[in-house]
Amino acid sequence: MNYLLENDHKNINTILSQVQSVAVEYIEKQRDLPPGKFVKDISLSDLPQLGISANGALDFFVKHYANHINNSAGPRYFGFVTGGSTPASIAGDWLVSAFDQNACGSNDSIAPQLERQTLHFLKQLIGLDESYFGSFVTGATMSNFVSLAIARQWVGEQQGIDVSNEGLQALPYLKVVSSTAHSSIIKSLSMLGMGRNALVKINIQPDREAIDLKELEEYLKQNQASTLIVVANAGTVNTVDFDDLEGIGQLKQKYNFWLHVDAAFGGFAATSPKFDHLMKGINHADSITIDAHKWLNVPYDAAMQLTKHKSLQPKVFQNSAAYLGDPTESPDFFHYTPENSRRFRALPSWFTLMAYGKQGYQEIVERNCSCASFLGSMLESSDEFKLLSPVRMNVVCFTLNKENPSSASIAAFLARIRDDGRTFFTPTNYKGTPAIRAAFSNWQTTEADVAITFQALKDNY
Ligand SMILES: *Cc1c(COP(=O)(O)O)cnc(C)c1O
Repeated sequence: MNYLLENDHKNINTILSQVQSVAVEYIEKQRDLPPGKFVKDISLSDLPQLGISANGALDFFVKHYANHINNSAGPRYFGFVTGGSTPASIAGDWLVSAFDQNACGSNDSIAPQLERQTLHFLKQLIGLDESYFGSFVTGATMSNFVSLAIARQWVGEQQGIDVSNEGLQALPYLKVVSSTAHSSIIKSLSMLGMGRNALVKINIQPDREAIDLKELEEYLKQNQASTLIVVANAGTVNTVDFDDLEGIGQLKQKYNFWLHVDAAFGGFAATSPKFDHLMKGINHADSITIDAHKWLNVPYDAAMQLTKHKSLQPKVFQNSAAYLGDPTESPDFFHYTPENSRRFRALPSWFTLMAYGKQGYQEIVERNCSCASFLGSMLESSDEFKLLSPVRMNVVCFTLNKENPSSASIAAFLARIRDDGRTFFTPTNYKGTPAIRAAFSNWQTTEADVAITFQALKDNY
């Protein structure tokens, strides 16, 4: 054995203790470190001929790179929809690497069973029927991808076509109907060969981002001969608006379509009696996307896909080989997901759900939403800013209170905010207006952070 490797193995305790010091030092400073960074491109260095050992690599990393890592896991990073990592989820994540399971087999490790256990917790947290089958994937994009892949298989079967064997060319017609579909739905349509243009956009209600149910029904009525996929949105990224899931679900009694619900972060509305009405009807869904690295606050990358049509999934994803076993007999995850070998991705989620329970998540969701509404009310009564939509849950969508703010002026303002170092946002466009989003989904954020944030906004106006 290479002596560096042998030596590192002997010193594993010291190595991991030093890593722990680096991690703890960062986490203890998280509240004060600037959330966003602009990092210049670095020049690439050559692969060492002779290694420098794990401690050498750690020293080098700390000296040259650690200060340039951004603090997106901290409490005042409001870009995109970014969660952090709860203490318990970090503990779980460290063990994922130490145990290094290939979580695809069924009985040669407890890992796949713990994945099913974690999904059971999740179904109870979100109020989903126990009949949903689920698995962990890398993010909501992959969850949407898996969901649309099985929806496509279902559409084929309605017409006597086995898409998994015959390919898309066997299908005469495939449309995906939605109003404010997330960009990852459109990306998935491209990856699945269904094409970005397969998306049919139904109008939204005035002053909303939610689908106009009458227009949806009209479209379904006009297209009864074909079998459609409807993608409902349970939490749009700009204003956290929800399609009427119960209303759409009722339409399934009259029209034959697959209902996929993208509830990547909005699904967590179900954890609180203040917001759970928004998720009413979710159990009509044939498939559901829930992200874990957003509001569940586990480290990247993790999300869950769920479906009521488990049997369709191995038709698409089965991986038949003599050494992998019979996919019809084996419940192994690699017959159900795009991956073959898979990380034990469920463990950080299991840790955090065990550690904080239903009440823990209700508290995070309610605190994030009350922080968002606090920021919203301060912006609304300010002279410098203008709210573009009511704050429905955890996202504040606003702009500069100027005549026609340009996207360049928003970009320049957000660069000043980033360099100021107190807070961080990402830009958007809301109904044609260049805008700013503040998304609250980090477990550490408090009202004190909102006060600091508002001051930073005013100071940089
Ligand atoms: C974030 C998000 C996605 C994509 O999620 P990733 O985890 O980044 O792949 C999809 N849909 C919605 C509604 C989202 O908020």
